Amino acid sequence: MMSGALAVIGFTWIASPACTELEMQMMDWLAKMLHLPQHFLFSSGGKGGGVIQGTASEATFVALLGARSKTLAQNDNNKQLLTKLVAYASDQSHSSVERAGLLGAVQMKLLPSDESLSLRGDVLREQIKKDRANGLIPFFVVATLGTTNTCAFDNLVEVGTVCEEENLWLHIDAAFAGSAFICPEFRHHLNGVEYASSFNMNPHKWLLINFDCSTLWIKNTEYIVDAFNVNPVYLRHDNQGQIPDYR
Ligand code: PLP
Repeated sequence: MMSGALAVIGFTWIASPACTELEMQMMDWLAKMLHLPQHFLFSSGGKGGGVIQGTASEATFVALLGARSKTLAQNDNNKQLLTKLVAYASDQSHSSVERAGLLGAVQMKLLPSDESLSLRGDVLREQIKKDRANGLIPFFVVATLGTTNTCAFDNLVEVGTVCEEENLWLHIDAAFAGSAFICPEFRHHLNGVEYASSFNMNPHKWLLINFDCSTLWIKNTEYIVDAFNVNPVYLRHDNQGQIPDYR
């Protein structure tokens, strides 16, 4: 709202320190309101933090790219493995999840949900087993909290456990329902969030913030910030590396 109203250009910290620092502060405030794990907060002093994206679609795509770069880094950056990468989501996930797979040029498998339209851990585990046996490399899972069709919730504890066992990046898409987690009586829907590598919700929906404001938290920002860093001379400044440059 501030950058929109005052026409602030905040692409690097030096371009507007207040713009960057207010965004960092605001992302920490919102993470605390949502009761997200400490590792998503800048104030934890770790590698985590939040950033405003345009849309949930964009957030899922960015998370997928982060997971992709992490997996390639763990495999000697062998780009030939790209064709073997496989990601998963439920058949109830938003179309933007499937599209993230298309844009990221990886397979995205939409797995059957149960009678409550929820993705369960055993379905995911079975598919991963089959895919590994066929030489594929599972790397990314999207769990939806509040599906677009019916506001169904994937079983985060089960799905998260599988992701931890299998070393997969778990992204949570809580695009519209995420705002509800501010209320203590709905917070239990977030149980299992500790397994997530990234979490996204849209304040521009239930929180009535100006479009566009889609908030994305990442547990380890290095996989995105460092992996996709291009550092031309005209954007460099003396404080680089000490504070995020949101570009
Ligand atoms: N995910 C879910 C669960 C949604 O309900 C929606 C939109 O309704 C999206 C993703 C896409 O959100 P956006 O329009 O911010 O990309």
